Amino acid sequence: MVERVDQTRRNFLRGRRLSTTGAIRLPWLKSEQHLLDSCNRCGDCITACTENIIVIGAGGFPEVKFDRGECTFCQQCVQSCRLPLFTDLEHDPAWQLDIKIKEKCLAFNRVYCQSCQDSCEPQAISFSYLSSSIPQPVISQEDCNACGACISVCPQAAIELTMPQAEPGKAMARCK
Ligand code: SF4
Ligand code: SF4
Ligand code: SF4
Repeated sequence: MVERVDQTRRNFLRGRRLSTTGAIRLPWLKSEQHLLDSCNRCGDCITACTENIIVIGAGGFPEVKFDRGECTFCQQCVQSCRLPLFTDLEHDPAWQLDIKIKEKCLAFNRVYCQSCQDSCEPQAISFSYLSSSIPQPVISQEDCNACGACISVCPQAAIELTMPQAEPGKAMARCK
């Protein structure tokens, strides 16, 4: 049986891994640059993913697509890789992604919908009546573990997880 790992992002702001391409890479990756420098594009992680959310992206490098499903943090992709590309599986968060709800959300447009809340196991999505008679979704960045489960269930494709971007001209921070 696959064990779920608690990925609550207690250290959300510590040592964030940045991207230059915007692609969401494999969980627990040391840095995107490690992948681009070393990955031999064998496709083993793609085959190993139990949820089929890893695809061949630009240049043949693996990317995660949350519109295909959620990450269960099963670590099968990491275990299948023969290269030392990953951080500490036990202590580091899988990703440190930003999450936002776009304006096309039904609730933002006065149509009742709470589909995303039901899919969120860490209960990072709440609904508030404070600013509208239709409850409005709010996502706690601190509680979100970036599993992506809310993305494919949203009828408007209104939820977006993104890699924090490296500033142009600045070198990306590398994890040790
Ligand atoms: S941790 Fe599991 S579900 Fe998540 S990307 Fe890797 S293989 Fe797929
Ligand atoms: S499921 Fe999508 S449309 Fe519905 S409330 Fe959540 S973000 Fe808005
Ligand atoms: S990605 Fe969505 S479902 Fe997963 S923890 Fe974050 S808000 Fe909840």
